[in-house]
Amino acid sequence: MRTRLIHFLLTLDVEPSPVNVLPSLPKLFKKAGITGTIFVTGQISNVVEPFLDLGWSIQTHTHPNLHLEFNGSYRLADYSYSSQLAMIQRDKEMIEKNLNIKSNAFRAGKLSMNNLTLNALNELGFKIDSSSLIPYVFRLKAISKRPWNPYKLNIGELIEVPVTHWIDDPAKDRNLWMKIRFIKAIESDAAICLLLHPHSLTSDALFQRLEKMILRLSRIGAFLTVGDLVNSRFQDPSLSSPTNP
Ligand SMILES: [Zn+2]
Repeated sequence: MRTRLIHFLLTLDVEPSPVNVLPSLPKLFKKAGITGTIFVTGQISNVVEPFLDLGWSIQTHTHPNLHLEFNGSYRLADYSYSSQLAMIQRDKEMIEKNLNIKSNAFRAGKLSMNNLTLNALNELGFKIDSSSLIPYVFRLKAISKRPWNPYKLNIGELIEVPVTHWIDDPAKDRNLWMKIRFIKAIESDAAICLLLHPHSLTSDALFQRLEKMILRLSRIGAFLTVGDLVNSRFQDPSLSSPTNP
């Protein structure tokens, strides 16, 4: 019998974009029998509603250029504490109102996060941030630190779920498979957080390659939402999906 120990956290960042493959994704994920997490900006959060029925977790995503506070910088970390707080709060409230859910996890657009962001998240009652990217995996010191795992930040109850790999193009992702092999060899029940922008799937060919990749991943591991993984590691049932009130 095959053991399914590796945990894949498939996360989709969704924001306004001219390319929209979202409507075709639920069918693919249903067929593969996988769940994941969507980080979506407030105003367009209605578009991800079909994912709720599939057990996906919908969470907050903030890009400054979609807010009145926009001052020319696309990086959230360039803004003051009060501006960051206002933007994140607006996105959170819009998502919760549009979809009738509670959001307690966050990802910054462009993964632009700093201490001010984390403090704003704590102030707004968030429990999870997933705005950091593991800068290395193949270095020796990674073996002892195991940086792919979620960890407690020293800010309120916040837990960081780092992104292990940013999928640019499902076709040319040799790095992904190398990382998975490396991590799996060190820790058989590791968490591997994958970031994908649906709007980067600009052709049918790319979409089909994503389908192949998902099926291949589902043969070697189990897919979880970010909240479910954190709950299983830190025993906080309030983090599990669906995050209904
Ligand atoms: Zn984004």
